[in-house]
Amino acid sequence: MSQLFLQILWDWLREWTSLLRSPCFPVLFSLSVYMCCCFPYICLDLLCSRLALVRRFKIQPQSKVTWAATWRCLCKISRNHVCFIFPLSVVHWYWKPVVSPPVAPAMLAVVKDVLACLLLFDTQYFFWHLLHHKVYWLYRFFHKEHHVYTATFSLTTEDTSVWEMLSLSFFTTLNPVLLDCHPLTEMLFFIANIYLSVEAHSGYEFPWSPHRLVPFGLYGGAQHHDLHHLKFKVNYAPYFTHWDRLFGTLHTQKKSRNTETLKRMCLSDSATTDED
Ligand SMILES: [Zn+2]
Ligand SMILES: [Zn+2]
Repeated sequence: MSQLFLQILWDWLREWTSLLRSPCFPVLFSLSVYMCCCFPYICLDLLCSRLALVRRFKIQPQSKVTWAATWRCLCKISRNHVCFIFPLSVVHWYWKPVVSPPVAPAMLAVVKDVLACLLLFDTQYFFWHLLHHKVYWLYRFFHKEHHVYTATFSLTTEDTSVWEMLSLSFFTTLNPVLLDCHPLTEMLFFIANIYLSVEAHSGYEFPWSPHRLVPFGLYGGAQHHDLHHLKFKVNYAPYFTHWDRLFGTLHTQKKSRNTETLKRMCLSDSATTDED
């Protein structure tokens, strides 16, 4: 059944071969998937100040998304896509023309390859990110731009320096090539990768958020990355938690709450001692 669905989907996509093979396709695809992933969160940001129900799910309810910040992000994203992603996708189109085999991949292969690409991207980004926080000049010139906001919102996902955007695009493009993925799997990985990075920056935590669906705290998600923007020296991995756990940089909301309680206890203790 799932195989039939993938075959129907792939056959339908192959009818658009001329579009898929166009040098403009990667940039249009990336921009439209990104905006579609951001759109529901932009609507929530608009409703947030009016509806307490929406505010309940906001990780930092006191933070507000301004029009100025939204406009700034939109301008930067458009500029980066036109000036950098588009010329690079033309190079990529020339270097690796799109092939469209007649048979769709098996569902199990799709799941396995998408997961492998995500794990690989998570590893590459973890070390890239750690290095850009540890080496001062790398942080100052290449990563600082992404840390303008301590409370993120969906459009801040791609609010990065050109170097950061190119590095991440390079990892994203490289992984399906390394794993020799089917073009349909490659496309599904791009969609999953864009969605998960937008979700991580959304600033919202829902009962159906990915980190609640993955067991044993293996997945970080929005709260994990929000703490990175807030506390700065923790949670370097974009999605999963194993690398931060291994390097001792994992910080959870529970840990954060315990530290705050401890701080408050210490403060009240010292106030009592002062009074004595
Ligand atoms: Zn960072
Ligand atoms: Zn971020």
